[in-house]
Amino acid sequence: MTEAAAPRPRLVVLAGPTAVGKGTVAAYVRDHHPEVWLSVSATTRAPRPGERDGVHYHFLDRAEFERRRDAGEFLEWATVHGTNLYGTPRWPVDEVLAEGRPALLEIDLQGARQVRESMPEALFVFLAPPSWDELVRRLVGRGTEDEAERARRLTTARAEIAAQAEFDVTVVNDDVRRAAEELVSLMRSTHRLKRD
Ligand code: 5GP
Repeated sequence: MTEAAAPRPRLVVLAGPTAVGKGTVAAYVRDHHPEVWLSVSATTRAPRPGERDGVHYHFLDRAEFERRRDAGEFLEWATVHGTNLYGTPRWPVDEVLAEGRPALLEIDLQGARQVRESMPEALFVFLAPPSWDELVRRLVGRGTEDEAERARRLTTARAEIAAQAEFDVTVVNDDVRRAAEELVSLMRSTHRLKRD
């Protein structure tokens, strides 16, 4: 088999603006594609109703997060929306890729940039909203953030949308199932999708 035809396991990094539905798309992949390994991030934020420790996130207090960060245990980490710390535990990613399984990280833009520095061979996928108005509608409709937090997240989202060109591929989240299936087929793809 030539190298071009060999399906090679790869790390796929999914990023995109706040409220675009990254978490929902990732959850769809987790529920429908058990062959895809989804990284469980660590965070200092409090669990939302229904979120389970070790499944949706590893919920850590700040001291423990900082201890792990300083010990180099995160592949990437960032302060997201100016408040909480989020990071990708490094060893599970290394282990899964070594086993030859496809791995998916759902992280913010700052984290995606760090992964690009350390693992440039990964595929970077930007999840885009169908439109700016739709993004605002989703953020307001979610109702999980107060007014000040929403304003902060929209400011971040504008900067994040401007970063779209840094990514290898854009997937539009017009429909969660469709977007998730497109993402999975990208993960399976043996074609060369990376921009040079
Ligand atoms: P939420 O608190 O709504 O679950 O997530 C807030 C933001 O943190 C989202 O943009 C999400 O992609 C990002 N995020 C989640 N896990 C990680 C991580 O491990 N690293 C980074 N850099 N961002 C993350």
